[in-house]
Amino acid sequence: MLPSILERMSAAAHRVGRDPTETALVAVTKGRTVGEIESEVLRYGHHILGENRVQEWRKKAFELEGVEWHLIGNLQRNKVKYCTGAHLIHSLNSKRLADALEAYGEKRDHLFRTLIEVNVSGEVSKQGVDPEGAPELLRYVRSLDHVTVEGLMCMAPYHPDPEAARPSFRTLRVLGERLKLDVLSMGMSSDFEVAIEEGSTLVRVGSALFE
Ligand SMILES: *Cc1c(COP(=O)(O)O)cnc(C)c1O
Repeated sequence: MLPSILERMSAAAHRVGRDPTETALVAVTKGRTVGEIESEVLRYGHHILGENRVQEWRKKAFELEGVEWHLIGNLQRNKVKYCTGAHLIHSLNSKRLADALEAYGEKRDHLFRTLIEVNVSGEVSKQGVDPEGAPELLRYVRSLDHVTVEGLMCMAPYHPDPEAARPSFRTLRVLGERLKLDVLSMGMSSDFEVAIEEGSTLVRVGSALFE
């Protein structure tokens, strides 16, 4: 339930002397119906939601008002034209995608706000640029007028022990410090408390909300 997730987030922040208001919850609603979203998320007054797939997101966005939408999944270039309603895109992972956002942003006079997705674990199955490649992508995006980078995002490898994710989160935090980017999107249902201990400012929690 959402209130218990917020309590756990707050406790994790206090454990390391962080202010709990520094970390926001992105309630991941992929695969959930509008009814489930209303009864498990919105009714608690929570309006920060995340979706993976553009098509599924657009249907829900059409039905739900007053939501701050975060796009967290891999974004195809031919879908950027549907994404002007997103508050933040967490998955900027290539120059080609940045170019597509720039082209559409210019056409519509829209500024896309993004996070660079970093493959901190080096797993081949994961999206994202290598940590070594992030500075170059950041420099590139800064040369564009309709895309801005506000921070970094990562997914830790799945592991039953949340402690296993800590090195990945630490890598992202250190990279954020180096690049002077304040927003860190890291932590999911299985590891969001460790992510907060390591400096996360946005946790993306799905399944734990609907248990
Ligand atoms: C589904 C998803 C989440 C949420 O995962 P849970 O384990 O359900 O909390 C977070 N981030 C991304 C990118 C996702 O696809």
